[in-house]
Amino acid sequence: MAYMTDENGNYKRTVRCGYCYQMGHNKGSCPERKKDLAASIEKTKARLKEDDYPVGDDWSRRNDQRRLENYTEQLNKMLNKGKNRKCSYCGEGGHNRKTCQERKNDIVDAASVLTNYRKKLLSKMKDVGLGVGAIVRTQVRTQDDTVSALGLVENIFWENVTHDNMFRADDWRPSPPNIVSIRVLGDYTNRWGEKVGKQLNTVPVDVANVDGDVLDPDRTERIHSGYPALQMVSGVDNVVAPAKFLWPETINNLAKVHVDERR
Ligand SMILES: [Zn+2]
Ligand SMILES: [Zn+2]
Repeated sequence: MAYMTDENGNYKRTVRCGYCYQMGHNKGSCPERKKDLAASIEKTKARLKEDDYPVGDDWSRRNDQRRLENYTEQLNKMLNKGKNRKCSYCGEGGHNRKTCQERKNDIVDAASVLTNYRKKLLSKMKDVGLGVGAIVRTQVRTQDDTVSALGLVENIFWENVTHDNMFRADDWRPSPPNIVSIRVLGDYTNRWGEKVGKQLNTVPVDVANVDGDVLDPDRTERIHSGYPALQMVSGVDNVVAPAKFLWPETINNLAKVHVDERR
């Protein structure tokens, strides 16, 4: 292993070629070696064609024939490298992960699912006024007990709405997106004796459940057995997501991550 500096001046690990001693490739893909092998093949072929070997010197001719076979084999090996590899996404041959059509289709599907969810979630949040400035009721763990407290919504982590926290009614335990940053109002002390200040919580279940799917009692219980989602007290008039919340580029990047994590 050798090191080279990238465009930012950082060292990164790389390979050094045992043939030309340049960095960034190895002997198996060395452009110099390909050129040299092709030239050797031409030269040997020419010599054999000329057939100008000394009389009685059969050894030189046979030696050139062996060389020609050897050079040709080496060059073919270099040229065919990677051609028999299988796609690491679908397992088929003839293409790689980057050009895999199945992966491309899966990314398109995932992007469409996430776009749909993000649109519906935003619309639900607008309906109830869940945005910066809203007053919500939440649960706070204090020294002795978990109590109900009021909170002020200070921030919404829009970028965290991904496939991982998309609410799916048929999940074993559907989970609402955990994106609401709250300042807890009132004096509460946690079990380390510190004042409870901020809290991150999920959006209300009926907001997360964008299609209004009916949940069986088991699922409902499982949702509430975690940290309880917050409830709206007083919404704001204006709920605005950043423009890039629905940009195809943003969504596509998340869809790629999602698709690649599963294969
Ligand atoms: Zn090289
Ligand atoms: Zn493939």
